[in-house]
Amino acid sequence: MELRNCPVCGKLFVYTVRNLCPDCVKKDEENFDKVRRYLHDFPMATLEEIAENTGVPAKSVLEYLKEGRLMLKKSNLNVLSCEMCGSPILTGRYCEKCAREIKNKMDSLKYRAIGLNEDMKGTLHLSKLRKREK
Ligand SMILES: [Zn+2]
Ligand SMILES: [Zn+2]
Repeated sequence: MELRNCPVCGKLFVYTVRNLCPDCVKKDEENFDKVRRYLHDFPMATLEEIAENTGVPAKSVLEYLKEGRLMLKKSNLNVLSCEMCGSPILTGRYCEKCAREIKNKMDSLKYRAIGLNEDMKGTLHLSKLRKREK
């Protein structure tokens, strides 16, 4: 059994699958549902509109999309853009072209350096996010 502090509210909880306490998981699921329903009713909404009308922080909305839990309607190019080239995308973090390039690069890297594991990628991604928030 592993105890952790919830990164959102700071409460101590038993770590299972997600790095969130049960209260925040519940809240997150409610938020996710709000966003999903809002996008169903207003498929062309911008990120600002989604955040404003659902009360869910824009950062969380982006997370749902980047995690691939949510996908935008094909014609809605207002919300999400590729982290590499900035072209509009519907879900995830990169457009198809960049995703392919990254995969190729990762594949060739794998042969050279075995050091980069999933954990390290996670912290790199987080520190990048934190910097951008400021
Ligand atoms: Zn919490
Ligand atoms: Zn791209």
